[in-house]
Amino acid sequence: MIEALHEQSPSPIQPLAEISGVHLIVKRDDLLNLQADDPFCGNKWRKLKYNLLHASRLGCKQLLTFGGAYSNHIAAVASAGSHFDFKTIGIIRGERHPKLNPTLAFAHSCGMHLHYLDRASFRNKTSPTVIADLRRRYGDFYLIPEGGTNELAIQGCSELIRELELQLPVLPDVICLSCGTGGTLAGVISGLNGRNRAIGFSALKGSFLREAVEAMLPTSFSNWQIDTEYHFGGYAKFTDRLIHFINDFYGKYQFRLDPIYTGKLFFGLFDLINCGFFQPGTTVLAVHTGGLQGLKGFNERFNGLLNF
Ligand SMILES: *Cc1c(COP(=O)(O)O)cnc(C)c1O
Repeated sequence: MIEALHEQSPSPIQPLAEISGVHLIVKRDDLLNLQADDPFCGNKWRKLKYNLLHASRLGCKQLLTFGGAYSNHIAAVASAGSHFDFKTIGIIRGERHPKLNPTLAFAHSCGMHLHYLDRASFRNKTSPTVIADLRRRYGDFYLIPEGGTNELAIQGCSELIRELELQLPVLPDVICLSCGTGGTLAGVISGLNGRNRAIGFSALKGSFLREAVEAMLPTSFSNWQIDTEYHFGGYAKFTDRLIHFINDFYGKYQFRLDPIYTGKLFFGLFDLINCGFFQPGTTVLAVHTGGLQGLKGFNERFNGLLNF
């Protein structure tokens, strides 16, 4: 039953370290899921929640969305669809490879229909002609944008703050999270409603995110910022240092980070703490947004660089 989405228990919060007087704690949204290791988890769980409820209320039986071949969002939609009896269609950027990678094999095993779109058409995927083509082909569907960011996604992500208020005596001074489209950050900023501070760590190169997040907010707030220093060359790019950090982190703290989002977040956060960016006594909460489904495909492509 889809209403079960309302009864999900809050993801755990765990203290991680105290460095130079800064208390670092983690919101384990990677454990926010219907069952262990389900890619319908993390910020994708929060972003999809109200979209799934809305689609169901509309009587829509089919979800359609877009993503790259290793997309956490594609895996999450495929899994959510199989949990709640939606047909799912994944429009995948690029061409079909003879062998499905672990992300697409998983999506396929959930019953997702995979439709490949060449890169030029994929760039045009929001144009009315492309959407009309897809409707002609597949009939009616509930459209979820690439990455899952829309108003309902932001509403879902804002609930992370409500959860923190129930779980902690006071809100952490600073909430840090990784950003792709910035939708999750927009939700967190809305939830904070002017209180404390949020810092987004961009997983992409460039400084366009600030404006994008601004445009998603109903009112303007000044208690947030985006750090653009820890992209490691750009989206899905990485260096030996980042891989070393992620492996080392696992050895120390016994939970996994991914090289696309959360690895870059924690690397940046440790770096900022070590540089004295935060006052001693500050409580910093990092959100583990999930994304671990991608590890299998990453290790397959890059010869087991990550040793877990
Ligand atoms: C999708 C994703 C993000 C980015 O979320 P946005 O809302 O697009 O900024 C961050 N972390 C993980 C693990 C993700 O899968």
